Amino acid sequence: MSTEALSGLYWYAAHGEPVPGELDVAPTVVRDIRAVGAHAVLLLPIQPDLAGTGPAHARALHGQSVYIVAVSQFPVSLARQQQLYDEGVDDVHVLEGRQAMFACLARAKRHFQRAHGAETARSALKAQLDLLQDALDHLPTPIYLKDVAGQYLACNTAFANLLSRPREEVIGHRLEGLAPPATADKHESSDAHLREVGGLMCYETDVCLHDDDQRYVMLHKALVTDEQGKQRGIAGVMIDITERKRLEARLMNAAERDPLTDAYNRRKFFELADQAITDAIRHSETLCVAAIDVDHFKSINDEFGHAEGDITLCSIVDILRSHETDGMIVARAGGEEFFALFFGAAAARAEEILQAMRTEISHYCQIKTAAGLAGTISIGMASFDPAAENIDRALRRADAALYHAKHNGRNRLSRAK
Ligand code: GH3
Ligand code: MG
Ligand code: MG
Repeated sequence: MSTEALSGLYWYAAHGEPVPGELDVAPTVVRDIRAVGAHAVLLLPIQPDLAGTGPAHARALHGQSVYIVAVSQFPVSLARQQQLYDEGVDDVHVLEGRQAMFACLARAKRHFQRAHGAETARSALKAQLDLLQDALDHLPTPIYLKDVAGQYLACNTAFANLLSRPREEVIGHRLEGLAPPATADKHESSDAHLREVGGLMCYETDVCLHDDDQRYVMLHKALVTDEQGKQRGIAGVMIDITERKRLEARLMNAAERDPLTDAYNRRKFFELADQAITDAIRHSETLCVAAIDVDHFKSINDEFGHAEGDITLCSIVDILRSHETDGMIVARAGGEEFFALFFGAAAARAEEILQAMRTEISHYCQIKTAAGLAGTISIGMASFDPAAENIDRALRRADAALYHAKHNGRNRLSRAK
């Protein structure tokens, strides 16, 4: 009900007789009550003998915005009073002089004041809620509140935008109708866990709402309870960490890969080798390492330039990696040298795989230089029992075998003793 609606005070002749005196005129403006509402309050006689002008009709027409007084110059029986109240009148007034009349007007005024007070409180509350919603809508961070059944009670614009829906399509619905099933399942099962354990939850998760847009968020969720501890719902805030995750991935990549060729670096090689060696010792398996060096690489640089040398190096790495299989790690050890480790089923096939690499590289990367045929690879290979020999010693043996391969004409594989 708005303040403007508090606009009418109707007289109703309780016994169907015209009411004498000052009330027998229509309409009368009662200025005393005007201050209560935005409009003047009118005293409008309702003629009971005219169809459609009784209190029920006035009530139906104006709702609660009017105050209806049944007026009589004779005493009104209790039964008749009850009947009048049932018809929708707010007060029954017997004309007993001006004092009683003022008491009646005072009751009407109090009624309007109460209605006006409630309306003012409602408007103030609405203004506060609007301000809160505005504030939340200005924040770029998605925020929501859902009830214990998982239906959204409130959310800000950022959250609605995340779901690509207007807010009205979010409120009153569950995530299962708004997001792909896998995303909805994941979030709803974590909600169920939160309802079980209570308190706060904070975790990183991906939100894949569209095929082409995967974002990562830090999700803070709190179980909302009332003073008695009764669960009211779950409030959540999502902080977008997509850029941070991408940066982390780039840093991780930079920490473990060589920037020119994108092959694993030496540090990552030994980190992965450690795990493979632990497993091999547990299963009493033999491993195989290889030291690989590009032949006459310096002369490629010297004759064709450093940039051409870089391209050759990348092509060689592409071929080495195209032979990668389960149980095999290849890394750039430095310069134009590489390490390979073979474990599990691949250990038995190490020589076969290395020869295939060498053949393919000699086919695609070999180039004639003053020093001889360059761009091929020489390989030294060593099998070892990790329980009896560490990888550094095995690599030294592989390196010695590589030296033999170089001295026996390059572009070949030599096995360590
Ligand atoms: P060998 O067959 O005996 O191994 O001869 P080589 O010329 O390959 O060996 P050497 O050790 O004399 O030269 C290696 C060269 O590799 C020297 C160095 O400038 C070059 N090199 C190392 N890293 C890079 C790189 O990232 N890019 C380029 N273009 N050259 C590199
Ligand atoms: Mg070298
Ligand atoms: Mg070399």
